[in-house]
Amino acid sequence: MQFDFSNLLNGLSKLHTKIWDSHVHIWSADAFEPLLKIGRKYGVHHFMGIAAPDVKKTLEEDGHDDLITFAYYLPIDAFAKHEPERILTAIEEAHSENYSMVKVWFGPRFLDFFEADKPFSLNLPIFDPAFTLIEDYHIPMDIHVADPDIWYITKYQDVERYRSKEQALNEFREVMRNHLSLKLISVHFHSLPENLKQVTQDLYDFPNLYIDTASTKWMIRELGNNIERTKEFFEQHYKRILFATDISVGWEDRDEKYLATRYWAQRLFWESNHQKIELPFPDEDNPNSPTYINGLNLSDKILEHFYWKNAEKFFNLS
Ligand SMILES: [Zn+2]
Repeated sequence: MQFDFSNLLNGLSKLHTKIWDSHVHIWSADAFEPLLKIGRKYGVHHFMGIAAPDVKKTLEEDGHDDLITFAYYLPIDAFAKHEPERILTAIEEAHSENYSMVKVWFGPRFLDFFEADKPFSLNLPIFDPAFTLIEDYHIPMDIHVADPDIWYITKYQDVERYRSKEQALNEFREVMRNHLSLKLISVHFHSLPENLKQVTQDLYDFPNLYIDTASTKWMIRELGNNIERTKEFFEQHYKRILFATDISVGWEDRDEKYLATRYWAQRLFWESNHQKIELPFPDEDNPNSPTYINGLNLSDKILEHFYWKNAEKFFNLS
């Protein structure tokens, strides 16, 4: 059994719920069409799309506003360069432009993109007014806190510059403790698909914290390692997990096949009990490559929440 572009649903059974993809990046309005087309084939009926105001406007004018819940990407260079005023201005814009969410991305390499020359941590007092403003406006925040464990071995040896993963997560926990009414989606399974015990603890400690399954490779590699443990986690926490891909369109060239492989691999993983199916694209982060899909065969009740109801409720649309 393998991915087949001429039979997109190969290996999948009939699905009894709609799917809401809670994390996609839309960098240009034109690029949304192929995502919509392929998404539909896999049962995706709604997107949480991270898009700039002009892209959002065009998509709304094209009549797509009931298909997309929009997130505003805050200027992360302003975090890297310690320019809190620009962050506050951006939050004001997100609010006045009726965004449903703000997005921030703190994969440690963001410091290199902007040649940051000041030490960064998420809980610096200069950033606190930004979190307060987001909280005051009741805008949920989509946050990327850290990267795969393996990257801290291969890419981030300079701990002073990048911080350890544990430190980054501790900073985030402090922000959450200081802003208890902030509603959050911590993407990529809270950056911790490698450590479900810790995710359980944080979900327990922070009732406004939700997690998503963005990054198909990372999730399938780590959560597919021990499917009994992952299934148990889903049984306990399925109301706090949102389906997501992190597909990014309009930046690099993403053809229909690229889009289809992501949806196919994730659906096969969550829904089926197929085991040891080779991931239909390379996973350069797996030292024991290739990465295999080991299906979890989640129940219809769990899929219904994880694929649709949780997102609908999170964004107050039901
Ligand atoms: Zn993303």
